[in-house]
Amino acid sequence: MFESERKELVEKLKERKITDNLVLDAFLRVERHLFLPKALESHAYRDVALPIGFGQTISQPFTVAFMTQELKLQKGAKVLEIGTGSGYQAAILVEMGMKVFSIERQFDIYARTRALFDEKGIHALLKFGDGTIGWEEFAPYDGIIVTAGSPSIPNSLKKQLVVGSNLVIPVGDRSSQILTVITKVEENIFNQKEIPSFTFVPLIGREGWES
Ligand code: SAH
Repeated sequence: MFESERKELVEKLKERKITDNLVLDAFLRVERHLFLPKALESHAYRDVALPIGFGQTISQPFTVAFMTQELKLQKGAKVLEIGTGSGYQAAILVEMGMKVFSIERQFDIYARTRALFDEKGIHALLKFGDGTIGWEEFAPYDGIIVTAGSPSIPNSLKKQLVVGSNLVIPVGDRSSQILTVITKVEENIFNQKEIPSFTFVPLIGREGWES
């Protein structure tokens, strides 16, 4: 279903400088409509963020593609996502051949996405909890992606990165963020690149915003 719509979406992503074939192929295959409320299915392949209930949104496809590309992952890499939400971003990473760990702080969203992953056979490890402190048990990670806007860069996440890998995180105030890519050059040495003007729902937790 919606195969031609997905192809059109991928063409739009290419026009906006998404060049990583691993990313583009995943967008061709992952069915975004499965991650949306039924009533919004027909809008699934428009390049826009959409509401998924519980005051949250599924990120815009371009944003998902851009952030994923910035992780610069090799197949089989271990990736931590903060903010599971609909599960679409996690499913894209799984489709790319990554080992995916994802944390969600709202129980209802966590439970719904977990049921969807079980039903569709999407293999990712999902956890209910505060992702601002990372997931120590499986650290370090070859990439960490935060899909909610944070007031600052949580130290715990920087610590849980493999040397040479990237943390992609929107940082700013509650209404607008700068997408920040942190590269761990050496233990305790980080490079930072900033791409302005993205908007995310707030990251709430110990090293994020207060609820
Ligand atoms: N990656 C998601 C985007 C979901 S929106 C997708 O593909 O659809 C961001 C999500 O982050 C929301 O579901 C919100 O509840 C969650 N969130 C906010 N703060 C969090 C935290 N500290 N830990 C884990 N999840 C958090």
